[in-house]
Amino acid sequence: MAPRCWRWWPWAAWPRTRPPPSESTQSFRQQFSTQEQTPQICVVGSGPAGFYTAQHLLKHHSRAHVDIYEKQLVPFGLVRFGVAPDHPEVKNVINTFTRTAHSDRCAFHGNVVVGRDVTVQELRDAYHAVVLSYGAEDHRGLEIPGEELLGVLSARAFVGWYNGLPENRKLAPDLSCDTAVVLGQGNVALDVARILLTPPEYLEKTDITEAALGALRQSQVKTVWIVGRRGPLQVAFTIKELREMIQLPGTRPILDPADFLGLQDRIKEVPRPRKRLVELLLRAATEKPGVAEAARRASASRAWGLRFFRSPQQVLPSPDGRRAAGIRLAVTRLEGVGEATRAVPTGAVEDLPCGLVLSSIGYKSCPIDPSVPFDPKLGVIPNMEGRVVDVPGLYCSGWVKRGPTGVITTTMTDSFVTGQILLQDLKAGLLPSGPRPGYAAIKALLGRRGVWPVSFSDWEKLDAEEVSRGQGAGKPREKLLDPQEMLRLLGR
Ligand SMILES: Cc1cc2nc3c(=O)[nH]c(=O)nc-3n(C[C@H](O)[C@H](O)[C@H](O)COP(=O)(O)OP(=O)(O)OC[C@H]3O[C@@H](n4cnc5c(N)ncnc54)[C@H](O)[C@@H]3O)c2cc1C
Repeated sequence: MAPRCWRWWPWAAWPRTRPPPSESTQSFRQQFSTQEQTPQICVVGSGPAGFYTAQHLLKHHSRAHVDIYEKQLVPFGLVRFGVAPDHPEVKNVINTFTRTAHSDRCAFHGNVVVGRDVTVQELRDAYHAVVLSYGAEDHRGLEIPGEELLGVLSARAFVGWYNGLPENRKLAPDLSCDTAVVLGQGNVALDVARILLTPPEYLEKTDITEAALGALRQSQVKTVWIVGRRGPLQVAFTIKELREMIQLPGTRPILDPADFLGLQDRIKEVPRPRKRLVELLLRAATEKPGVAEAARRASASRAWGLRFFRSPQQVLPSPDGRRAAGIRLAVTRLEGVGEATRAVPTGAVEDLPCGLVLSSIGYKSCPIDPSVPFDPKLGVIPNMEGRVVDVPGLYCSGWVKRGPTGVITTTMTDSFVTGQILLQDLKAGLLPSGPRPGYAAIKALLGRRGVWPVSFSDWEKLDAEEVSRGQGAGKPREKLLDPQEMLRLLGR
């Protein structure tokens, strides 16, 4: 008998904005439940978006099966490779993800690059629905002369280096200079500035890689400038990260009171959470510190500063033309109001000597498969509440859905929405009917292509090895960095 499973509902039935009327939902539910089908769903990417989408699907549909594909050998995305090693409490979400992965209706398939090892169309053929949750792994370039000089790095690569991302393990940043400049004023910028300035002994009991810790012990970096195009009212970091900087042992802040002139009056117009942040900045910049704080700052051997109204114009080369020796910043002023405030150059420039430039002006998603629509301007997959526009049965969640901003809880909320929309469509009969082969079909394809997926129990073996390697030094783990070694440990 010919399989019925390849029939799609007509495209016109793919709702763009709202779920179908409850009448059709009801009739489909009856039809679906009598068929006792197992919806086969796959998720591409095992970061917070992938895991939270899977969690929602498993919780709200008692038979759904979810396969999570991941290109790395290990799960958890930026929770492992982004979140700073000195923020271990943030990584507790891994416990929830592990519970999801342990469900007998969930499977993890690491070491599978979707778009290369298997296409999205092949996944769509094998599953009732496909959710793209592959994050935003690229970085936004500075697009200024000198960007290619030694000593200019993306914050993405620098973070990947100290967090053990295999592709960044050989980055070897040169930390022999006195001054580093971080371009951008978001939380990632504060993360890299904090890691550069934290006394290494404070990082010893974290899961930072031993190689990065060794390099930080030798580091000569004493001053870090965190540079933004706009002013104190527009910073993108949050109060927790700012407070940590202000209290960072062995360091003192350098804030120019002139940047804060007139701010006291404007603070009243600012929405509540931002108001508290700007008040803290203002206090740090303008109030005379108490005796103890003044003593602490006087004895500090390292410093960090915020530079406002400066936009990078050119990385200045060393005399031999090979390395970064400084950065030319265009002085800016603000035009427009509210969200529309833009920084425009005034014509004045300022040269800032530095040996390390870390650009932290944002992450960026990339298209992974030509069959999936992509908005290069916004850097996201065009979607309505997680339904990929014009592609029935295809969904997205997380940073690839709404852009690379927001914390893990923001990603959780939007992933639950995607999960819910998918289940609504399933009930409304907008997904293919009939059985789907799911992983059985993909496993055969991957086998023919010489790709060997890593299961969640494989990951747990690697996890145990990392934990045991960290024990001697009192670290939560010593991350494995070499994919070949990891595969060897798994007997491949
Ligand atoms: C440096 C940094 C620090 C952060 N610190 C914090 C913090 O302290 N607290 C907080 O709440 N939030 C923090 N965030 C934000 C948080 O990490 C994000 O909100 C969240 O990780 C986004 O989830 P995601 O699943 O969309 O993307 P990701 O976490 O990036 O997950 C995407 C996954 O998809 C995989 N993938 C990519 N391409 C493919 C492919 N072709 N095939 C298969 N798999 C693929 C990737 O390997 C990755 O595992 C931080 C972010 C960064 C960048």
